[in-house]
Amino acid sequence: MIVDAHTHTPRFKGEIPPEEIQHSTVWRPDRAVKTPVNWAEYVAAMEPVDRAIVFGIARKGEESPNDATAAFVRAYPEKLIGFLSIHPLDPHCMEEMERCVSDLGLQGLKLGPNYQNFDPLGDAAFRVYGRAEELGLPIVFHTGTSPVQMADLDYAHPRHFDRVAIAFPELRMVLAHMAHPWQTATIAVIRKHPNVYADISALFYRPWSFYNCMLLAQEWGVLHKLLFGTDYLVSTPQENLDALRNPNRIVGGTNLPRISEAAMEEIIHRDTLGLLGIAG
Ligand SMILES: [Zn+2]
Repeated sequence: MIVDAHTHTPRFKGEIPPEEIQHSTVWRPDRAVKTPVNWAEYVAAMEPVDRAIVFGIARKGEESPNDATAAFVRAYPEKLIGFLSIHPLDPHCMEEMERCVSDLGLQGLKLGPNYQNFDPLGDAAFRVYGRAEELGLPIVFHTGTSPVQMADLDYAHPRHFDRVAIAFPELRMVLAHMAHPWQTATIAVIRKHPNVYADISALFYRPWSFYNCMLLAQEWGVLHKLLFGTDYLVSTPQENLDALRNPNRIVGGTNLPRISEAAMEEIIHRDTLGLLGIAG
């Protein structure tokens, strides 16, 4: 089974007003990303995977993304697994977390400390992590840089999640994008904590970085902690599958070390739902 551990809830169910459509060049260096997408476009792109974890990101003072995620999951229950998002500094966030689990059936949590502008080691965040650990909800964190100017880089550094994992050893966490370009720091964190993983989404289109982080993960013995993911709509499953199935493309004709193709296939077929404690 192939699970995409990182996708974003489409903003539109049906037709997208033409004035909303943009082709953004800030997200990746090799092609523009069309935003937004609708349900049909999302489902077509997800054709190569069996299951996909989908979420929005809560913004303080804005409408919660959770009902939209739940409605999308209800439409494609065989395919989709919905995660909730809350803002840890929102006074009602703990009630919203309970509602999302008990009423909406959402099965994990998405947080982006840099995008949401909260301290991932602050008291408010720790309250959320504690309840997530009790409820058995895994958390996908945005980690790593982003082109968003006012998104605090330090809040997205993977080293912080070492301290989170020490405080909450049963909490299952995914550090998105291997925290690019701090993949080495991510390796240091996932290596020591059994319940901390990283996803490989949105990495392949920087070929030298991708080769290097996969090779480092191999040398440090953490390839088994990497989960398949796309960050759709930033990249598609097919693009990521193609890259993982040709990991040594850029080092052909050299003596540089090779990445195990079998290990890449294992990432593709990782039992992500089992590892994150999600009932299929
Ligand atoms: Zn993402």
